[in-house]
Amino acid sequence: MTLYQAVRGMNDILPEQATLWQWVETKLKNVVSHYGYQEIRFPIVESLALFKRTIGEVTDIVEKEMYAFEDRNGDWLALRPEGTAGCVRAGIEQGILYNQLQKLWYSGPMFRHERPQKGRCRQFHQFGVEAFGYAGPDVDVEIILMTARLWRELGLESHIALEINSLGSSAARANYRQQLVQYYDAHIDSLDEDSKRRLHTNPMRILDSKNPDMQKLNTSAPKLNDYLDPESQQHFAKLCQLLDIAHIKYTVNPCLVRGLDYYNGTVFEWVTTSLGAQGTVCAGGRYDGLVEQLGGKTTPAIGFALGLERLVALVEQFAMPQLNSSADIFIVAVGEAAELQSLQLAEQLRNEFPQRIILTNLNGGNFKNQMKRADKSGAQLALIIGDDEVNQQTVTVKNLRIDVSQQTVKCVDLIDFISMKIK
Ligand code: ATP
Ligand code: MG
Repeated sequence: MTLYQAVRGMNDILPEQATLWQWVETKLKNVVSHYGYQEIRFPIVESLALFKRTIGEVTDIVEKEMYAFEDRNGDWLALRPEGTAGCVRAGIEQGILYNQLQKLWYSGPMFRHERPQKGRCRQFHQFGVEAFGYAGPDVDVEIILMTARLWRELGLESHIALEINSLGSSAARANYRQQLVQYYDAHIDSLDEDSKRRLHTNPMRILDSKNPDMQKLNTSAPKLNDYLDPESQQHFAKLCQLLDIAHIKYTVNPCLVRGLDYYNGTVFEWVTTSLGAQGTVCAGGRYDGLVEQLGGKTTPAIGFALGLERLVALVEQFAMPQLNSSADIFIVAVGEAAELQSLQLAEQLRNEFPQRIILTNLNGGNFKNQMKRADKSGAQLALIIGDDEVNQQTVTVKNLRIDVSQQTVKCVDLIDFISMKIK
């Protein structure tokens, strides 16, 4: 017999875990709704060309990580490695970005063929937001405040820190790029294979390297901040000022360049030291050129995406909530007439107590067995129905959690009785 296994790097999320995920996702949705963001859902599969064009040909994602395939029609498609490209494509195609302000959020699986390890999988999940039509820096600050509120809501504020930088305009970056190439050329023998390859295609990507030797070399590299255009300088200065006023702590990290091509101006990451090497929980920035690049009207924009696996891991480590998925009421029924009544009673209780979990004696069994199941379900109350109860139109109510004597309650009084027992 073949025992099938999940694809490497693609994980099952079992019910207990899923309850925690739901709790986290609900918090995220509530907070961003509070700031006026609305959900958008776009496909998991898009044309391969879309991702190449937006993320950039010379990036880790496009060069090494994409799940690309030719479909039965011979069209080249890819599983989405991130959300922004699809979101912008959908926004332009559906005409919701044209001369409009939009605040959008999305949540769902993303796919990258990376080496699976702690905090890095091949199917992972991102929650992200995109704000279109806002030039900032006010919106940059609002988005950062919103993320700070997320960490507070989740109880993580002391475990996660903000890093910011500005990538400037594309002209400023072109100038900076030349300086960078000169610097790395002078250290060509110290460059690793990846960096050598990138030196003339995408030298800024070297700054993003995870290789500690490269990171050492990067500390002495020319700093982008020294080459910023005046407008970006002002934008960044204002951003810093507004963050100070809002009492948001941050570090300016000159090596923060982000791994995707579409960013310009403000970029930021929220990082933790508690998850090992995979420390970036949330990352984002401005991408003022992307809408136009994809055929829309010039539209300033900013967004971020956070990795749910990493966020959930942090919550588990530092702020695990009390989550209760156990039943509230379990109906024990012995005998054919009682079983029939159990079904009806359960439906009536589900009408009356829509927030409660109500289980019945499915799979039958004798009284002792059913009581065992009732106890295991975590229910507070067992409602017991046997021949006597059926004949007398009563139900026996036993509290499974407190040692008090059981009570016989008339069927007509049952709802009121239960209302008093479970608040
Ligand atoms: P990293 O530097 O860790 O590879 P990245 O810069 O490639 O991250 P982004 O494209 O900015 O990541 O995605 C935003 C967030 O999504 C990351 O900060 C991280 O929390 C999460 N993420 C990205 N790739 C993965 C992955 N393979 N597995 C789990 N989470 C991921
Ligand atoms: Mg990556």
